[in-house]
Parts: sequence; C-alpha cells; structure tokens
Amino acid sequence: MSGVTPRLFVISGPSGAGKGTLVARVREQHPGLGLTVSATTRAPREGEIDGQSYYFLTDEEFKRRVDAGEFVEWAHVHGNSYGTLVSEVQSKLAAGSSLILEIDVQGAFQVKERFPEAVLIFIQPPSLSILQQRLRDRGTETEQSLAVRMSNAEAELALADRYDDVVVNDDLDQAVHDLLEVIQKHERN
Ligand code: ADP
Ligand code: 5GP
Repeated sequence: MSGVTPRLFVISGPSGAGKGTLVARVREQHPGLGLTVSATTRAPREGEIDGQSYYFLTDEEFKRRVDAGEFVEWAHVHGNSYGTLVSEVQSKLAAGSSLILEIDVQGAFQVKERFPEAVLIFIQPPSLSILQQRLRDRGTETEQSLAVRMSNAEAELALADRYDDVVVNDDLDQAVHDLLEVIQKHERN
C-alpha cells in the first residue's frame, strides 16, 4: 500500500505492564501486523500452547540453538532464558508487513544493534503498586516469581527513556489507541 512502510517494532515493559493484552488488541485492529513466537526455557502456564505462546525448550536445547547461532537475540529474564529465533523473523518478515517482537529490555537493545531501523516502544504501568496488583490478579505467578518480577521492574522502568516511544497503560482502551497511533506514525514515516 502506498505511503506505508513495514517496520520492525520491539515492545518491552515490566512483566504485568500489559504488553500481551495490548498487542492482542492492537492486532485485532491492524490485522496485517505480525508477531514472532519466542523460545523459552520457562515452564508453560496453564492454557499456553507450544509453538503458539512460545516454543518451550529444555535448557540443553536452548543452549544448543544459541551455540548454533539460531537466535537474533536472547537473554536471561526472571530466571529463565528467552530468545527470538532467526527463522521466526525471516519467515514473518517475508509476509511483507510490520512485525512485533515482544521481548525484554536486554533483547531490545540487541535488536537495535542488529537492526538500527527497528522502532523500540516501551509499555509503562501507571505505578509499581498497580503493576503488582495486576500481576497478582493475573494469577500466573507464585509469591517468589512475583517478587523476582517486581524487583526487576524498577531497573526496566529506568530504561524507558532509551526507547523511541512510551505508552502508559492506565485505561486499556486509551492505551490500545495510543499504541496503534504510535505504530501507524512509524509506518507512515
Ligand atoms: P505482560 O504481557 O506485560 O506481562 P499482561 O498483558 O499479561 O502483561 O497483563 C497483565 C495483567 O493485567 C493481565 O491480567 C491483564 O488482563 C491486566 N491488564 C492489562 N492491561 C490492563 C489495564 N489497562 N487495566 C487493567 N488491567 C489490565
Ligand atoms: P513471561 O514469562 O511473562 O511470558 O515473559 C517474561 C519476560 O520475557 C517478558 O518481559 C517478555 O518481554 C520477555 N520475553 C519474552 N520473549 C522474549 C524473547 O524472545 N527475548 C527476550 N529477550 N525476552 C523475551
């Protein structure tokens, strides 16, 4: 389509900030927008499907793929390994539309090094206490994993100003609107 350039978008933010929720809502309104499926050594949560939510790998398999150069980026996050496979990016970029990588802050800067034209978008919660409440209400974390995620949140929030754009996820509808607007702004430039 004339006037629209496909872009590589990286979306980061603390666990519980609403990245998954926002990306799903934005993709309903922008159906061409691709999303990579990451690999992780984290155990699947109830309802997560291998190959759709993540590629769930053992530590050995993850390491083998790191050594084989199969990742665009990878990092240790909240006690597990997570990474974006080269094959995922290549196959989904071939579709010719923009692509979202929903990855942590360490991975985001690796992608920016490798693809300087990538657009980095940070999803920010309204406050740390609301973040904690949302993570608790999501019901996916043990007290221990919740504490790890909350202690990492402050360091992650300190990096928001290194991103191209920041979207505050307070009111959900407003944040969906704001994220869509940011994405379309970059696709027009
Ligand atoms: P992330 O992918 O960043 O870890 P999620 O998308 O899983 O975060 O969101 C964390 C929890 O907060 C989920 O239970 C989700 O339904 C809820 N949530 C997301 N955005 C909002 C919002 N704007 N207001 C209230 N709850 C929200
Ligand atoms: P969760 O365990 O809640 O699904 O994800 C935890 C964190 O891992 C999130 O901050 C998410 O952005 C990050 N993450 C998910 N996939 C990747 C990936 O492929 N690479 C990197 N670096 N981080 C990822």
